[in-house]
Amino acid sequence: MQILDGKVAAAAIKEQLKKQVEARLEAGKKRPHIAVIIVGNDGASETYVASKVKTSEEIGYGSTLVRFESDIPEEKLLAQINQFNVDNDIDGILVQLPLPKHITESKVIETIDPAKDVDGFHPESAGRLVQGLDTFVPATPYGIMLMLEHFGIETTGKHAVVIGRSNIVGRPMSILLSSTHKYGNCTVTVCHSKTKDLPAFTRQADIVVAALGRPGFLKGDMVKEGAVVVDVGITRVPDATKKKGFAIKGDVDFEEVAPKSSWITPVPGGVGLMTIGALMMNTLKACERKD
Ligand code: NAP
Repeated sequence: MQILDGKVAAAAIKEQLKKQVEARLEAGKKRPHIAVIIVGNDGASETYVASKVKTSEEIGYGSTLVRFESDIPEEKLLAQINQFNVDNDIDGILVQLPLPKHITESKVIETIDPAKDVDGFHPESAGRLVQGLDTFVPATPYGIMLMLEHFGIETTGKHAVVIGRSNIVGRPMSILLSSTHKYGNCTVTVCHSKTKDLPAFTRQADIVVAALGRPGFLKGDMVKEGAVVVDVGITRVPDATKKKGFAIKGDVDFEEVAPKSSWITPVPGGVGLMTIGALMMNTLKACERKD
């Protein structure tokens, strides 16, 4: 068993991006700039936003962070997005999800200029992905593809089973794995909460991507010997032995599954780190498009 180490792969991406930023600045080109909006003060969202801003600064991007209280009227949030849409210095706009209930998520996503949609959640970006056109790929599935590429995981002709069909992870992941990309060309099965006898599918899989948000869901007897296992899950589980009072758990029962797998991502230290790297790749792409 080998570890698909997010720290190693993400560090390589960061290093590459840092060099690209330096080269841009030497050539007199624009510094990439990312704008991040956070609404309310959800603990997990705060952590994600902080690491997005920190990473962007480490690789030399400019960043703007805007915070709103959780009771902000929807129009005010949309107005801020529109302001970023017309600001030439801003290349990418991120609105940290989830949003408070009184705000319509789809309205927010659709207000972002598709040219600055570095999260890849806009219907235009999603549609282009389905058609195999150049687009911003949602950061988590994109990060997983970059990870497969970094470790040279053979995917062509393999059977991949994706558990989860959300717009931000499972669905785009299934599209990417079935695409003609070098690290695609899989035969893909998508499982979800209505799938009957899910283990019958995962047991056939050469590659399993677990993205359902149920800690420890994938057990040892649900995977075949030698499978590549990618754990997307991030759930905070109460743990009195931890300083923060919780532990981060993935969707895979690592202890049981790791001995059977050929490659496996740890949680933490796996997919989560790749997500931020992929987001930064998208931001550079948005900036380069304006050159
Ligand atoms: P989501 O929107 O809640 O979607 C979960 C999906 O899993 C749904 O399609 C659901 O099926 C399916 N599902 C739920 N319970 C199931 C079960 N018992 N059996 C089979 N399928 C089941 O979640 P998400 O946003 O895709 O996120 C999934 C997980 O990834 C979460 O833990 C999240 O925190 C994590 N995540 C991690 C990163 C990262 O950077 N590592 C990024 C994003 C998300 P239905 O469609 O039938 O409801």
